[in-house]
Amino acid sequence: MGEEMLVFENVTVAYGEHKALDNFTQTIQKGEFVALIGPNGSGKTTLINALLGEVDISGGEVFVKGKNVKQFKRKELARIVAVVPQHFSTSFGFLVKDIVLFGRHPYLGRMESESAKDYEIADEAMRQTGVLHLKERKITELSGGERQRVVIASALAQQPEILVLDEPTNHLDIHHNLDIMEIVGSLNRDKGVTVLAVLHDINSAARYANRIVLMKQGAIVASGSVNEVVTESIIGNTYNIDLIVRYNRFTESEEIVPIRRRRQTQSENEGKKIHVICGGGSGQFLLEELRNKGYTVSCGVVNVGDSDCEAASSLGIQTVMELPYMGISEKNYEKNLELMRLADAIVLTDVAIGNGNLRNIEALSLFEDKPIIIIRNPQRDFTGGKCDELLNKIEQYPKTELADVGETEYLLSQMLASPSEMPPDTP
Ligand code: ADP
Ligand code: MG
Repeated sequence: MGEEMLVFENVTVAYGEHKALDNFTQTIQKGEFVALIGPNGSGKTTLINALLGEVDISGGEVFVKGKNVKQFKRKELARIVAVVPQHFSTSFGFLVKDIVLFGRHPYLGRMESESAKDYEIADEAMRQTGVLHLKERKITELSGGERQRVVIASALAQQPEILVLDEPTNHLDIHHNLDIMEIVGSLNRDKGVTVLAVLHDINSAARYANRIVLMKQGAIVASGSVNEVVTESIIGNTYNIDLIVRYNRFTESEEIVPIRRRRQTQSENEGKKIHVICGGGSGQFLLEELRNKGYTVSCGVVNVGDSDCEAASSLGIQTVMELPYMGISEKNYEKNLELMRLADAIVLTDVAIGNGNLRNIEALSLFEDKPIIIIRNPQRDFTGGKCDELLNKIEQYPKTELADVGETEYLLSQMLASPSEMPPDTP
């Protein structure tokens, strides 16, 4: 690393009143694979157009290998930077081979025609992108995906030091999508080509890029390694969705699983904390539902490997975990107590209680003045009566309510409503 291949310095582009790019600053070093992601309309294509001089920059500068782009001749720039644009339009029916061969133009003098070596390079580019068999066909007679691969072949024939791609896999099926990403990835890894790719698919970005720049409304929201940018809160807030981030051991990278668009109602629960005592799968849907409603959820003590424990960790919920068959240690009992103390309310699911998790009920019995919801389960006691004895006591506490599974969320919202939200005659 070390050489600065692309530098954007306070670049601003405005269409009338609307700033599509607002003070964009970013440096891309030699050998990097930078993915540019962001919601539709965040300014990604505008940035690439600014690099190519295809839009008027109202402020800032773009440098390629230390030289202002304005000072480049077209061919000179094209020997360094190849661009695969988001929209490639041809009305004229060029042959595929001619379009790919066109990638060799920056290397030819005026009036000079292509050499055998140029043909070889073009053929190799077509082979790599799987369009060699289409070489005698007219571009206008190809499918969107085939056309896309031809345009990529033309960029490869350019043998650039910097490859810039704008949503290169947009029209491609998943097979060709993988093909193209692998080709770009290996050009980067094996040939040291610097890559700047606008990627629509966050999972491809996480898998192939070594750095991600996340944009929204013309500005950078986050920039850094995959682990720094692809987090539930950053991606969730930028795209306004709920999602989980997990490690995929087959692709050896982080990936996101979108769960749903965010609803607007969740803000009223913002800041309210709920602790959930669960286990054995009795809590997984509740954990997810409460978190979705905007509550800050904690959970414990559950066993490592328990499905509730796994659900809690994939939701990013703070959880006290214990190894199975160990009982609850003093340390974890205390940690759990602390989460319960911090909570505005505690929910006990219909989890079965044995000697291994009885201490969770002992802990619960210490909170006489806290809103508690106990989800009914007449057959939960596997402790020879100790659990039921404690629960009978807890049920008498002034703020304890018994509930069925489906009622929990509604009950909670009632119990935690601030006085002003209550009808006037509520005691
Ligand atoms: P992205 O590629 O991230 O989807 P674009 O860079 O294409 O976003 O667009 C950024 C913003 O600029 C959008 O709000 C878009 O509507 C606006 N925009 C893009 N091109 C033009 C144009 N030629 N004239 C007016 N507004 C434009
Ligand atoms: Mg775009």
